[in-house]
Amino acid sequence: MADERQAERERMVDEVSAQARDTGVYTGRSRFDERVLEALRRVPRHAFVPTAQKSNAYLNRALPIGHDQTISQPFIVALMTELASVEAGDRVLEVGTGSGYQAAILAELSDSVYSIELLPELGRRAASTLTELGYDAIELRIGDGYQGWPQAAPFDAIIVTAAPPEIPEALIEQLAVGGRMVVPVGEQGTAQTLQLLVKQADGSIETRDVIPVGFVPMVRPDDQSDTSANERE
Ligand code: SAH
Repeated sequence: MADERQAERERMVDEVSAQARDTGVYTGRSRFDERVLEALRRVPRHAFVPTAQKSNAYLNRALPIGHDQTISQPFIVALMTELASVEAGDRVLEVGTGSGYQAAILAELSDSVYSIELLPELGRRAASTLTELGYDAIELRIGDGYQGWPQAAPFDAIIVTAAPPEIPEALIEQLAVGGRMVVPVGEQGTAQTLQLLVKQADGSIETRDVIPVGFVPMVRPDDQSDTSANERE
C-alpha cells in the first residue's frame, strides 16, 4: 500500500526500532521481527485517526479517536504484536477494536483475525475503515470482550488493548495450548503492567511482567459506576 506517506511510516518504524533497542532489557525483545516491522510499514495509520489527527498519524504517540478512547502508540502496538508471536496460520483475537489499526496490523500477519469492540459507534467506524482498505477477512463484533469469542476459540494469540483489573477468566479458557496472551493488567487509575501469558500443555499459565503501560480501562458493560464511555451510548 505505497502512498505519499510511506516515508513518514519508514521514520516511524525507525523510531519504534530505536525504542525496542532502548527497552529490550525489560521486554526481552530488543529487535522486533521483520514481519512486524513490515506490517507497520504497510498499514496506513493515518486512515485510522480522526481528521484533526491526520498530520500526527506517524508520530510514535497514542492519539485520541473520540469517545475518550485512544489508538495506541505505534511502539506499543508493535511490542504487543511481537510478544504475541503471530504466525501465518494462527487464529488471533483482539479485545478492543477501537480504530481498527491493531486489527489491521494483525491481519498483515494472519488470515484469521477476530476483534471485539464494546462501543457500537467505534466498532462501526472501524468496520468501514477496514473494509475501505481491503481488510475484508477480519471478523468484527460489537460486544463485551470479557466474554471473549467462544464460537471462534481456541485462539493461538489474544491481544487485549484495554486494561482489565485482572485477567478475564474466559480469555484464559479460550487460549489454545501454546497460545500467547498479551494484556495490560491493573486497576483503573493505577499503574498497569503489560503481561505475557503462555498456556502450557497441562493447561497451566506461565506469566511474565513485561513493562509498565497506560491503557484505557476495559469496561464491564453492566457496571454503571465505571465509565463515561457507556453512558454516552
Ligand atoms: N486497539 C485499538 C485501541 C483500543 S483503545 C486500536 O488499534 O485503535 C481500547 C478499546 O477497548 C476502546 O475502543 C474501548 O471502547 C474498548 N473496550 C473497553 N472495554 C471493552 C470491553 N469490555 N470489551 C470490548 N472492548 C472494550
